[in-house]
Amino acid sequence: MDSLKESLHHHYGWSDFKLGQRPVIEALLASQDVLVVLPTGGGKSLCYQLPALVLEGLVVVVSPLVALMEDQVLQMQERNIRAVCLHGGLDALQIEKAKEQVRAGHIRLLYLSPERFQGLAVKKLLLDIYQLGKLVAIAIDEAHCISAWGHDFRPEYRRLGEIRSWYPGVPVVALSATASPRVRADIIRLLNLSRPLIEVCSAKRNNLQYSMRRRPKDPMPDVLDEINNTRGAKLIYVRTRRSVETLTRKLHSYGVYAIAYHAGLTMAARRQAFSSFLEQKNPVLVATVAFGMGVDRKDVGLVMHLNLPSSAESYLQESGRAGRDGKPAKCILLFSPSDRKRLAWAIKSSTQGDSEKAFFANHLRLQIAQQQLRRMEALAEGETCRQQALLQAIGEVVSPCGNCDRCLHPPPCIDWSPQAIEILVELNRSNGIRITALITKLSSKTSGIVEDLSWLIRRLVQEDLISESDDGLQILYISNLGRSFLYKPWNLDYAEERLLAS
Ligand SMILES: [Zn+2]
Repeated sequence: MDSLKESLHHHYGWSDFKLGQRPVIEALLASQDVLVVLPTGGGKSLCYQLPALVLEGLVVVVSPLVALMEDQVLQMQERNIRAVCLHGGLDALQIEKAKEQVRAGHIRLLYLSPERFQGLAVKKLLLDIYQLGKLVAIAIDEAHCISAWGHDFRPEYRRLGEIRSWYPGVPVVALSATASPRVRADIIRLLNLSRPLIEVCSAKRNNLQYSMRRRPKDPMPDVLDEINNTRGAKLIYVRTRRSVETLTRKLHSYGVYAIAYHAGLTMAARRQAFSSFLEQKNPVLVATVAFGMGVDRKDVGLVMHLNLPSSAESYLQESGRAGRDGKPAKCILLFSPSDRKRLAWAIKSSTQGDSEKAFFANHLRLQIAQQQLRRMEALAEGETCRQQALLQAIGEVVSPCGNCDRCLHPPPCIDWSPQAIEILVELNRSNGIRITALITKLSSKTSGIVEDLSWLIRRLVQEDLISESDDGLQILYISNLGRSFLYKPWNLDYAEERLLAS
């Protein structure tokens, strides 16, 4: 056995590397920069953990979320690997203690938020380690956060390229589960990666069975049904902390002892939820999307979302937690047209800022977030293979999976162009109109049911025949393509709404 494999076996008990891990580890040991795009569950974190253990030095891990850092530290501690994180939630004494351990060379992995990585206290600490030659690498986790084109842009990530120059010669490894070619280019440019090794693995997962459908008014029967008919551990994602609590309570009343998890729980409660999920036989966990990054449970047989995810990228990442053991697993998405409106408002209110610069930065961010949301909705309402469409969103072209609801049961389609013409004629007369006003106008004229109309309007937005404002207000305009369509219509073969709902 070679020495890298020996270390892997010694620290983790595994006998071989996963695809893509070894070249990354070797590059880091040779001080080369690396960009790693490995799907969820591909073992990204091992790529920077092992070099720290092999060289008995320190790797700094920059990560966007406190909950994510804490989860990773907990997992490291369970493996007897010494890791700490520094964040605003700790008191002065805890921070001092952690720093002391780092200074003494006892710690292998130090998790930091991008803000703290820039702070003077941390800079001084890390320069000391650097001068001792013990700063092994800087790992930028969730590196897509640096790009405005990524699904989770964080302006704090923008300074990381400059900060790395404080530690010349220390390699940087940028990691992401979902980075499209455009985002990859941004990561390389903004982090100043110098002649990096680029390790990209396909995100295609043959053992996952995707299925997306409308959420019934009471989703409980569907949830119970899926829980009862799937193997292993089950993850159920909802949007808010409150719905985590409501759903957990409801499940308890049906005799399903679900575990609740969200970022608002105390550290102790999160730790408890975390270890219950890892230790119970077939646990059911209800969580907000904050849960799961870095969770290492292989036999997850079901990942169920009860709301529309905010982007195809994030959905790929979350659903990818299913079936890491390679056995069949289900990814179910229940959604409602109202989800997008709610999410759009949430995105809008999270991007408020008062300076002019913040306004333009937020405007771009808002625009991209709305586009990603529309694309996710188009995917859920669309007729094509789910996995193919999801992968396309991250720039990967594959053939239909043969395993999803669309591949197994292609929906019957009809031509909707006559109804589309009525909608576009009305829009052509107006100079921007809110979707609700448009529906009121049309429903008095046509025989269309309101529900069908709003669905068809969304489809026309998804097909670029109608443009929609990116401010969350859903103001509609006819697009240039829409005008060409009116001039010379073509067939619009979509599955009928009522058929989709059934
Ligand atoms: Zn498919």
